[in-house]
Amino acid sequence: MPELPEVETVRIGLANLLPNQKIKAVWSDWSKSFPNSQADIEAFLIGAKITGVRRRAKVLLIDLDTAYSLVIHLKMTGQIVFRSDDDQLRFGAGHPNESLIGRLPDKSTRVVLTLDGAKLFFNDQRKFGWMRLMPTVEIENLDFFKKVGPEPLAAEFTATHFIERLHRRKNTTIKAALLDQTVIAGIGNIYADESLWGAKIHPAQRVSEIPAAKLKTLFSEMQYVLKLAIEKGGSTDKNYVNAEGKRGSYMSFARVFRRENLPCPRCGTTIIKSRVAGRGTHTCPACQILTK
Ligand SMILES: [Zn+2]
Repeated sequence: MPELPEVETVRIGLANLLPNQKIKAVWSDWSKSFPNSQADIEAFLIGAKITGVRRRAKVLLIDLDTAYSLVIHLKMTGQIVFRSDDDQLRFGAGHPNESLIGRLPDKSTRVVLTLDGAKLFFNDQRKFGWMRLMPTVEIENLDFFKKVGPEPLAAEFTATHFIERLHRRKNTTIKAALLDQTVIAGIGNIYADESLWGAKIHPAQRVSEIPAAKLKTLFSEMQYVLKLAIEKGGSTDKNYVNAEGKRGSYMSFARVFRRENLPCPRCGTTIIKSRVAGRGTHTCPACQILTK
């Protein structure tokens, strides 16, 4: 599952390519991947011009001048590939199998949008992902969008707001609270472990037991790792690649995630792997002490 930085990396790539492109045709082989009716497709998608590309949590939104948007969830194996017809411009994002560089469409292709001199492919081997056309104003009414927490990198999202959100889960472990998408949007296993290591907080510590000053540090660490990961083009976890088909390089900068049996970059103690909030969890046993 991509986390916020991986989807943001896709958004940045598509935002450079898609605006002002006109959608000339659409093809889909699998109704669950693109469930809209032919009537809606003809009325609101064919002939529409793309006005922008946005992201909310881990969901991509392609806005159209028909006041409709394409809502895209990549889920486990979703992938988006942009190819110009002359093959000069190639961009791939998401699950990095051969489809990123191979001939398209292929057997993983679920939806193809024909643009001006280019095509946009939505490939999804395991078919958990989807693309859906809907009125732009209705997006915020989707159950998912109503429940999802604030964007951790939004300018208006402050440390105070962050602490207030975490305190809604006072009795859970801090790791579970960070992973809860209704508390904050877009944080998954990698960025939870990295942020907690940065703030020297044990992932199994209960939220109520952590002093506000430490939570404030956690807020800065979380923003730091997310920004760094976006800058590096996302992580390579689950083999996510960025919009140019390059592997993200954040994992090579990870300080604790997937570094079990390696020395902690801060103190040299061997990093251990355990299970917290049902997830594989990486900690430094010297820097991150569980206090009672
Ligand atoms: Zn350490």
